[in-house]
Amino acid sequence: MIAFRRELHRHPELSGKEQQTAQRIATMLHEIGVDKVHEAIGGNGIVAIIDGLQPGASVGLRADIDALPMQEIEGRAHGSTENNVMHACGHDGHTAMLMGAALELIKARPARGRVVLIFQPAEELGSGAPAMLADGLLERFPVQALFGLHNWPGVTAGDFVIHDVPHMASSDDFEVCFQSSGGHGAMPHLTADPIVAAGLFVTAIQQIVSRNINPEDIAVVSLGSLQSGHASNIIPAVARLKGTARCFRPEVRGQLEKRVREVAEGIAQASGCEMTLDYLPSTPAVVNDLDCARLCREVITAQWGRDQLASHPISMGADDMGFLLEAVPGAYAWIGNGRGETAPALHQPDYDFNDDILARGSEFLASVARRFLDNND
Ligand SMILES: [Zn+2]
Ligand SMILES: [Zn+2]
Repeated sequence: MIAFRRELHRHPELSGKEQQTAQRIATMLHEIGVDKVHEAIGGNGIVAIIDGLQPGASVGLRADIDALPMQEIEGRAHGSTENNVMHACGHDGHTAMLMGAALELIKARPARGRVVLIFQPAEELGSGAPAMLADGLLERFPVQALFGLHNWPGVTAGDFVIHDVPHMASSDDFEVCFQSSGGHGAMPHLTADPIVAAGLFVTAIQQIVSRNINPEDIAVVSLGSLQSGHASNIIPAVARLKGTARCFRPEVRGQLEKRVREVAEGIAQASGCEMTLDYLPSTPAVVNDLDCARLCREVITAQWGRDQLASHPISMGADDMGFLLEAVPGAYAWIGNGRGETAPALHQPDYDFNDDILARGSEFLASVARRFLDNND
């Protein structure tokens, strides 16, 4: 498993371009002897089937397989061989843990039922899960529950965090564009000014969370890009802003979109600019089914003891597992990646998946599947 994880780490591929990764996964699945491998599902997605000894319920296990467009720090023996591509979210580890679970489930097949292994591409774009769903994932390979595992830096290595509340945020992107005819900086009365409109927008949307959202709810609106103009004496014709809006409840999600739109429209009107807004829904919040979360805790308690259950705050980060858990009940567990409180965070150039947790993660996934099949018809 360590060798497989490191091989994936050495050859990361960007979201939507995981052809070689998918090929490696499919080859390995054939080698370990799963019953069936289905390729190219929703892009580079792979689904593999392991049948139990008798017919019964069916359960899904999901791992993401893609990497990020960033440069890894130098000096690692298993470091990325690709320029500006890196497994900085640990999806190499997730893939290896799911492969390990497959191996365990083949060595000792479940007494009954079916395990559906889902290797999902393009998580970092939030597009892989919906693409697999659109390609008939759940119609072709129906499951009654779905489980997944994401590593979590800073949580003690091998501890688990299982949330009952929504624990990864919904994430929507927006792009606002203020436009005018543009003009001479010395004659501001002859044109509307997109820069002033953009400035008003930057400050006005800070009030959405502080003034419009119920303080009991959690939400973030952040701008990550503001682009306009190039010369000191030209009022530009365009100012473009990009941002992200995150929260945990669909009602709040709708409210954020409504307010971003209203604020942009109001400022456009007040400043005399034209305005366009592209609001791009991305991933829904990740919400565990309570029974499935309990099942995860039962497995951890039975196998390693209660003290391996850690608590950790929810994350404003997003994961397209949210789409899958919207479609079928399940749970997304976190496994501690360790390395203490100063551990490199996900998406940092010095991050690395911790090989010490591979075996435990595999065992967890296999045991969760086994327990679900034992408990359900
Ligand atoms: Zn990530
Ligand atoms: Zn991730």
